[in-house]
Amino acid sequence: MRLNRWSYRADYAVLPLLASAVGLVSLWHASPWQIEAWLASALAGIAGWTLLEYGLHRWLLHRVQPFRRLHEAHHAHPSELIGTPAWLSAPLFAATWLALAQEMPRSAAGGAAVGLMLGYLAYSLLHDAVHHLRASPGSWLAGAKRRHALHHRPGASSNFGVTTGVWDRVFRTAAEPGRPSDDDRHSESMTRR
Ligand SMILES: [Zn+2]
Ligand SMILES: [Zn+2]
Repeated sequence: MRLNRWSYRADYAVLPLLASAVGLVSLWHASPWQIEAWLASALAGIAGWTLLEYGLHRWLLHRVQPFRRLHEAHHAHPSELIGTPAWLSAPLFAATWLALAQEMPRSAAGGAAVGLMLGYLAYSLLHDAVHHLRASPGSWLAGAKRRHALHHRPGASSNFGVTTGVWDRVFRTAAEPGRPSDDDRHSESMTRR
């Protein structure tokens, strides 16, 4: 979705507020073991987000309409402010928290929801930085920019992870300059046929 400067970055204010509220509610009068469960779930939520980010990007945004069409606009115009507005992401995370709270103890559900939100926030900030910030040569951001630029090559089927390249290596979609991923080679051979 094409957004203005404010709504493109509204997540950076709305999600920390929502995560703080969820954290407060889920830790209210918590016992020491509930705090431990909360922290463990938050770490699992952050790790879970990285896999969700890979899966949503590779399969939902690249294959399923209308998400595919919306995501293609970002691929065609990478520096434009195209993204998911906070009025959509915040209710989705709130709903995820409520759904988790039906299935898990309050502390574990709260921790997992906060972990997922922190992961998403890291993804949003990094994807924004990758497209809109200059990076000094050799820096970590320069590496992230190079990795994501390979994802943006026309017809590429690689480097779906933004916050981490781990899942691309697990699912064999990692590409480096001059070294396409297995999936890239497969789609190239399919187009040649
Ligand atoms: Zn993409
Ligand atoms: Zn991008």
